[in-house]
Amino acid sequence: MKRRSSLHGDALPQGAADTSGYTPGHTPGHTSAYAPTTFAPRLLAWWDVHGRKTLPWQQQRTPYRVWLSEVMLQQTQVSTATPYFLRFTAQFPEVQTLAAAPLDAVLHGWAGLGYYARARNLHAAAQAVVREGAGVFPETLDGLQALPGIGRSTAAAILSLAHDARHTILDGNVKRVLTRWAGLEGFPGLPAVERELWRLAEACTPQGRNADYTQAIMDLGATLCTRARPACALCPLQADCVAYLSQRQAELPTRRPAAKRARRVRRVVVLVAVSQDAVWLEARPAKGIWGGLWSFPEFADLTAAAELHGFASAQPALARVWPTVLHSFTHYDLELVPWVLPVSAPASASASAPRQAASVPPLTGAEPNGRWYPMRRTTAAKTRVGLPAPIERLIEAVADATAAGIFSSDEALGERT
Ligand code: SF4
Repeated sequence: MKRRSSLHGDALPQGAADTSGYTPGHTPGHTSAYAPTTFAPRLLAWWDVHGRKTLPWQQQRTPYRVWLSEVMLQQTQVSTATPYFLRFTAQFPEVQTLAAAPLDAVLHGWAGLGYYARARNLHAAAQAVVREGAGVFPETLDGLQALPGIGRSTAAAILSLAHDARHTILDGNVKRVLTRWAGLEGFPGLPAVERELWRLAEACTPQGRNADYTQAIMDLGATLCTRARPACALCPLQADCVAYLSQRQAELPTRRPAAKRARRVRRVVVLVAVSQDAVWLEARPAKGIWGGLWSFPEFADLTAAAELHGFASAQPALARVWPTVLHSFTHYDLELVPWVLPVSAPASASASAPRQAASVPPLTGAEPNGRWYPMRRTTAAKTRVGLPAPIERLIEAVADATAAGIFSSDEALGERT
């Protein structure tokens, strides 16, 4: 990690007092000189004119709504998160309603945003707030960070935005702005670089107007200092931005060092048992990928799937391998090979009473977490379970094929097993 030093001196501007508590140490750079004096005022003046002030979570800025928005905006852009936020807060307007909701309903409200651990943590944290705080969020960094899924920056954002208290955030947008402005090199995920960024962020945080400042630096990162092609001509930090002055915007922040190993690929066969207008789903374990969501039974290969007993009523001649579904997770790629098999037993596809389908023999007789699930979106019961987005798309495709009569004729579509 090193900071470029040639563009600015180390000394504070004449007459300026460094009241930030930031100690520049031995590394030369301009940040200690400018941060406490002009960084925040310039940013706030820009935000007063150009900042975003009508986002849904900026209205009624309660800790609950700020927290929801911060979690949704992790890895997600404002335009994507906004409809989710509106739906989620309509369904769960208070922390109490979220805490009291079944996890399935929460996961369903989250479906499509990905990173489902965030939704599970939301639910668990809401229950902790209700149980331990009678519905009132902690008002300290430590108290908030003790809740599931709340890290240092999210805790600071909640206190800053909901209470206008002086706290410093360091999310992805802020890291990008600060690394460019200060010319800070090194991958921000490295502990030493991150420590330096926290010091810098603290130094830049003003004593007053904290909520506005927090929103301003997030807005600058999201709207001007974007990952690709930042709009430097419009930026209030341009005059002393190291990246701009040295035309190194594309190089900063430093990218993650190349991974040493090729990405892992995990290939599984999923059994898509179709009965009339329903498919058989099973709840996944609470921990792990798609934890707590509903998906198809998984098998290591086709042989293992074919050996599944309880399919006396199935029509194996109509079974077929569906096109492989590809999905990327952070650490590996998933290849789902759907093996679609019509079963002749009529399904009582009642999502409200999934285990009362007495006329339908369970697939193996041993799945305590299975249910027949109606395939069509219009079915009200469908709103009750959380589905991973790729599984939801697969169900739609199977529903279309079923409606087209594919499973009731001898015409082969796709590869027959
Ligand atoms: S001048 Fe450009 S690179 Fe520097 S902070 Fe502003 S937008 Fe980002």
